[in-house]
Amino acid sequence: MTSNRGFTTDIVHSDRAFGSDDGSVHKAVHTATQYGFEKVEDLIGVFQGTKKGAYVYSRQGTPTTAALEAKLTAMESGVGTVCFATGMAAISAIFLTLLRAGDHLVASRAVFGNTNSLFGSLEDLGVGVTRVDATEAENVAAAITPKTRMVFVETLANPGTQIADLEAIGQLCKVRGVLFVVDNTILSPYLFRPGGIGAGLVVHSLTKSICGHGNALGGAVIDTGAFDWTDYPNINAAYRKGDVRQWGLTQVRKKGLRDMGATLSSQHAHAIAVGAETLALRMSYTSASALEIARYLEAHPAIAKVYYPGLPSHPQHAQASKLFRAAGWLLSFELKNPGDCLAFHDRLQLAVKATGLGDTRTLVIPVAHTIFWEAGPAVRAEMGIADGMVRLSVGLEEVSDLIADLRQALG
Ligand SMILES: *Cc1c(COP(=O)(O)O)cnc(C)c1O
Repeated sequence: MTSNRGFTTDIVHSDRAFGSDDGSVHKAVHTATQYGFEKVEDLIGVFQGTKKGAYVYSRQGTPTTAALEAKLTAMESGVGTVCFATGMAAISAIFLTLLRAGDHLVASRAVFGNTNSLFGSLEDLGVGVTRVDATEAENVAAAITPKTRMVFVETLANPGTQIADLEAIGQLCKVRGVLFVVDNTILSPYLFRPGGIGAGLVVHSLTKSICGHGNALGGAVIDTGAFDWTDYPNINAAYRKGDVRQWGLTQVRKKGLRDMGATLSSQHAHAIAVGAETLALRMSYTSASALEIARYLEAHPAIAKVYYPGLPSHPQHAQASKLFRAAGWLLSFELKNPGDCLAFHDRLQLAVKATGLGDTRTLVIPVAHTIFWEAGPAVRAEMGIADGMVRLSVGLEEVSDLIADLRQALG
């Protein structure tokens, strides 16, 4: 799936390369729920496994979602992709189709809140979960047991912008024969490809960076080809056939889409595919804006702390500079006076007070009062979520306008 052409060149031409409909330069939006066959033997062949690659029923995919999957596979330099209705559906599909009761998972403590909530459900189902500070690979190493099947981290955590010890954990997983799963939602494959540091599966909420316009939900699981499924114990006998690189994803598709059914619609796949065409432009632009905003805030007397990996003050700045093309659009900061946090939000005129991330418009949210409210004060203290913490998802507005707005709101 790799070519010598540039990232965006490949994306904008991938629909044509994939074979398009009547010369349409976009993959068409296929809305049929079922696909008919000329001969009944072909229909039977689909059920009996002798006719491969045919569309049958849209819960398992359509030509439109397949075109997006091909695009994502190319973007992550992988060997295959399965799309889902949301990022959480993609993450759930990985755990629920590839883990069994009695298995063990090592996960970063700094993960998306709903992912952490899902870990609780896995524990209820009999999967052991050990949460560690994954910014040091030795914490992950210490947590691995003979029952550990997977290590799960995010490339850049929200809201604290912690970066897992990616290269060392990748090496560790390889040596221990454990599947390394990386949520690359915030950075996107334009800024970083986890396959290069040994991640076997990459997961995305397509809702954020890749769609990028706040108008479609989606998720994806991409196999990078780095993990050898031969000895992975939980692959059903029916899927231990053919190209071994496809065993894991076949199970994720069959069990995750066919049995659990959180299918991405063709309409949303189309919106995401269009959004992805400008991914590189948006990531470059918003990363430059975020860096300028981070520098401005760090120098401002009303600000106690700025969390942004592009700043030399960030604990994993060296790693970010080495591995990532730029530091992305997510940044958080703490006001010196937490009592002013809510009034500060109301003084902002441009940034939209909203949850969600990776939109064209800048979004702002008081972290302790919203996304970490349910966690309670003890967990917030443990996770370093201060009462005056503000999360900013930097959009496409001119950075001079964003800084002017922050300046007036900070007073
Ligand atoms: C938003 C998000 C998710 C969940 O994605 P949805 O599309 O909202 O279900 C998962 N991981 C990360 C890092 C996210 O930011």
